[in-house]
Amino acid sequence: MRPILRELLGVEMMTVPAVVAHGGAGPGPDRQQNVEMAIKVAAEILKSGGSAIEAAVEACVVLEDDPVFNAGTGGVFRNDGSVSLDASIQTSDGKIGFVIGMEETPNPIRVAKDLLDEEINGLAGIGARIWADQRGHIKAPVEGRPPHGGEGDTVGVIARDSNGLLACATSTGGTSHRPAGRVGDVPLPGSGFWANQKASIAATGVGEAITTALLSYRVHDRFTSSSSDLLSSMQWGISELIEAGVSVGLIGLGPEGEGTGFSNTDMPWAAWSG
Ligand code: ASP
Repeated sequence: MRPILRELLGVEMMTVPAVVAHGGAGPGPDRQQNVEMAIKVAAEILKSGGSAIEAAVEACVVLEDDPVFNAGTGGVFRNDGSVSLDASIQTSDGKIGFVIGMEETPNPIRVAKDLLDEEINGLAGIGARIWADQRGHIKAPVEGRPPHGGEGDTVGVIARDSNGLLACATSTGGTSHRPAGRVGDVPLPGSGFWANQKASIAATGVGEAITTALLSYRVHDRFTSSSSDLLSSMQWGISELIEAGVSVGLIGLGPEGEGTGFSNTDMPWAAWSG
């Protein structure tokens, strides 16, 4: 039963919790187990009654802490050798938090999460770090790693809890071979992520193409305002809105059912539902 119908009828019904996560557009089956580890953490939180926000953030932290991913600890160096991290979170009840270009912040998703209940949505650079310091977020050098070829390995998680809340968390060090100060899709609403009570979508891959297409919002719109299902909407988005040969992947989760993923490269993704 749709959340709105449930509300109209005054019916107290539990939603089946679920989570879907990806490990970037391209790194393939070698990273499957790592993504499944994050799913496991989120599933445990959801099974014990935790919120979608907690599940999405904690699963994202697992991926940020895993050095094989281009997020948190494994963020790729910018052209000047710096590590500059972006992260975002959005919930289906209309809250957004995002951070841009954070240095010395191993878990930028935790800072983004703390913005959900603030008057401001987003923070960038030194200001973001000062704000994080005031709230006690860990400040530590981030190891980082050299940029690499075509494949991306940014991370994203979408969770749904038993109250029907959806939360979408994404985190990245940015596409390889980009200058300091470059901003990709991950912290930009509608580009790297979008969520409302009807669904949530998260994107990965070449941020410039994703942003130009406003990809997450448009795939979300396709799913929620046509008869297209989640997978077909993602397939439409990648084939119609992204130029051939540009690596992009998507995950999505609706108000019911399992999450799903689709990519034009070999994107590791996994899903669970309770
Ligand atoms: N989308 C990310 C960015 O452009 C990179 C990635 O997903 O691999 O910053």
